Order: sequence, then structure tokens, then C-alpha cells
Amino acid sequence: MKISSLLLKNCYLIEPNLDLEGRFNLLIEDGRIRAITKESLRAKEVLDLEGKVLCPPFCDLHTHTRYPGQTYKEEPESLCKSAISGGFSYLLAMPNTNPPMDEPERVLEVEETFKGIGLCKVVQSATLSVGREGKRLVDFYKFLERGIRFFTDDGSNLQEPALMEMALKYSKALDFLVLNHCEERSLSRGKVNEGLVSEVLGIEGRKPSAEEVVVARDCILSYRTGGRIHLQHISTGLSVKIIRFFKELGARVSAEVNPIHFTLTQESVLNFGARALLNPPLRGEEDLELITEGIRDGTIDCVATDHAPHRSFEKEILQDSLPGVIGLQTALPLTLELWRRGKISLRKVVELLSTNPLRILGERVRVKEGEVANFVVFDPNEEWTYEEKTNLSKSSNTPFLGKRLKGKVVLLVREGKLVYKGT
Ligand SMILES: [Zn+2]
Repeated sequence: MKISSLLLKNCYLIEPNLDLEGRFNLLIEDGRIRAITKESLRAKEVLDLEGKVLCPPFCDLHTHTRYPGQTYKEEPESLCKSAISGGFSYLLAMPNTNPPMDEPERVLEVEETFKGIGLCKVVQSATLSVGREGKRLVDFYKFLERGIRFFTDDGSNLQEPALMEMALKYSKALDFLVLNHCEERSLSRGKVNEGLVSEVLGIEGRKPSAEEVVVARDCILSYRTGGRIHLQHISTGLSVKIIRFFKELGARVSAEVNPIHFTLTQESVLNFGARALLNPPLRGEEDLELITEGIRDGTIDCVATDHAPHRSFEKEILQDSLPGVIGLQTALPLTLELWRRGKISLRKVVELLSTNPLRILGERVRVKEGEVANFVVFDPNEEWTYEEKTNLSKSSNTPFLGKRLKGKVVLLVREGKLVYKGT
């Protein structure tokens, strides 16, 4: 039901699209923002949001919904509930489903399913290659004429440089976005980062260079072709430097980072075991610092969760376990830690989680008088425990389970309706 008359008093509004920041009262009537003002107003219902931030809703460019094919890990419903409690109204779903998203009908079926749930908008990406096998590109025209504009083989890298070059030429000509999971297969074996922990455990490690050579390749190909590429889950300091170099050259490159990669280092695997295993793996202290620097100076455009549910039986033995960590409910508190440590501003937190990914997704959302109400309200200082009771995903593969976190979503309003209210 649309919000009929609600006054949000004293909220701290951050709207980077309009370069607006400050304490305001927001009046919502019939699902629309009627007023944003410092004056006092009246409404049927009034909420005092002193100390809380109100901004455009969050957007995650990297969600593994597990639908279709692996609903034993995550159901569409549990995914959406987990997303909205994390402040996300928009998700870009990865195509490594079963079957993979290499037919337009499949993509549209998934989007319809999530539309039916009505809690958040799920944009389903298509695969870059047929069957996600990296041998032949999909027929882009077939997807574009059905409105599908995002292509990635995520879960795997598109290995063949000539295929990536071709995909980027099409991207330039037809104006769509290519995304890539940068990882040279021949350099990435094992489960953890190659370094301290792989040595301690005496197991094979994944080399940072596996990511960096593909980041460099994709930046070069984007620069040469003029095609637009988004580099997924960047995890090493050298990757950040390469991206910075090519952005300065004017390449049409954007990049995301999973908050876990600026929060934990490789040693966490010794504490948390398989719960801290993901791909790319956790790296070293220096990588963490360079990633934070890349966030500060805009080399990294956004935070993306790489929400990757797995059940506990798939995470029992380190050596055999599947890589991936869930992340929709921890993205906000982990990103806020950078602010708490004085590394970034609150406005930057909003840009990383909301306005920058929304721009990359091509969604126009503004907190502005006259617009349909679409926003999130969060308390940057509220503490809560992330535990089985508060975890809304069907899976619980995260090293943050049982931890106290700071920063919590208070309200999520989507298309004029209240879809989530924090307790
Ligand atoms: Zn990936």
C-alpha cells in the first residue's frame, strides 16, 4: 500500500545527485515526496529520525540469487528479505545459475519471478558466452531487443582475449555493459591467497597475478575498442593501480570491491576456516590499504556484495569447500567502518552503496520534491548482532555471524511503499 501521509522529521539527508546534504523534514503523500524542507510540517503519521541518514536506496551490482537451479542455497523470497533488510532496492543478478542465463526468455522469467515478490528490483544479467563456456559469444542483438543490457560470465573469467575484444566492440557499437570476473585460470589454483596462509597451511594458493593480468588485459581492450567494461570484485592493490592508470587515460572502465576485501586479510582463514573462503581470496594488509586508497580517490566506483550463498555441508572441509560469502546484510556496516575510521565521508558511503552503482545500472533515482518516494534510512551508529535470528538469508556462510556490527537499516521505501522497517 502506498504511504498516504508521513512526515520524516530531522533526518540527515544525503543526496549526491543534487549535491544536497543536511538536516531536513521530508513529507510523503500518496507515495510521493511532497516537500523537503527545514520548516515544520504536519502529517497523519510522524517519525522522528534524529541522527539517521536518509539517501537514495542501495544497489548491489553483484548478487548470486541461486535462482533457478540452486534454491536449496537461497530462495527468491529469502534473498529479497535479506536484500531489503540490508537497504538494497536494486540487485544485478549473476548468470551462473542452472541453467545459465544464455537465453533471453530465461532472463525475463527470472525478472518476472522477482517482480512477483515485489520487494526489490532484480535486473538479471545474461552470460557473455553460450553456456558460460567461454567458446562462443551470445547473440547480443537477441538480448538487446528484449531490453537486456548486462553481460558477464561471472563465476568464471572470459578467458579468450579475442572474444573479450569482440564483446567490447559490440558494447561500443550497441551501448551495453560488459562485466568481467578477472581471473586467469592457469594462474589460479587452490583455495586461499598465495602467501602467508597458503604456506602455513601447506596448500596451493591463488596468485594475485591471476586477477591482475586480466584486469590489465580488459583495461587495454576497453581502451583500444572504446567498449564499456565493469571489473568485478577487485581484490589486489596492483589491480587498483592498473585501473587508476587506465581511468586517467580515459578508458571507459568502472570497478567494484566486495566490503570483505577492505575488512579482512588472508589470516582470517586461520580463524574462520571455510567461512572466510571466497573467490578472489582474502589478500594481504597492503592490498587492503591500496583498495581503501582506491575507494577514496574514486578509482573504485562502488561496493558490491558478491552475495554467494552456500549451505554448511558445502563448507565443512577447507580443501573441498565452495568459495563464497553472503553479504547483503553486512555491506552497510562494513562500509561504515571506513567512515568510522576516518577514511571516507558519509557521503562517500552513500555514493559507494547507492548513487554510483545505480548510475552504472542506468537507474535514475532521486530524493527530490515531486518524485515517487524511493529511499533508505539508516542509523550509522546502531549496534546489532548478526546471528541466526537476524540473518534472513537461507544460508549462513559468513565470518561475521555472531559478530556485533554497527550501522542498521531503519526504513526502506520503494515506489512509494514501505517495504522494510527495522526493529
Ligand atoms: Zn566472480
